[in-house]
Amino acid sequence: MDALIANLSEAEKDVLIAKLLKRQEKSRLSEKQILEKHPHVVPGTLDWDEGAKKQFVLIKCTVGDCTETRKTFTSDVWQIKACDGHRAALRKVRKENERLLLKELLKAREPKGEPVEADEAE
Ligand SMILES: [Zn+2]
Repeated sequence: MDALIANLSEAEKDVLIAKLLKRQEKSRLSEKQILEKHPHVVPGTLDWDEGAKKQFVLIKCTVGDCTETRKTFTSDVWQIKACDGHRAALRKVRKENERLLLKELLKAREPKGEPVEADEAE
């Protein structure tokens, strides 16, 4: 890489820099693009996380009339639609539903006689 750079004239370096900057610019999403796809993004919050080298936004929780916001990388914005509190609650409900479903499935399958206990699984 160093040799490559050393062999370039100043003019060639300028051209290369401009080209690379333009390419980087293109790969970053504009806020308009994000908001069109994800209306739960809070307008005016698009920013750059220097540590993670990623773009992030604040999203507004979509559960009921919750007003919490959450920092979310733009790469995850399609799958994160709730604040941390509601995410935990939704996860709990899903787990409970899965537990009940499993119980029903095992009950339906179980031969007459010995009952299968599904509650142990956790
Ligand atoms: Zn919430």
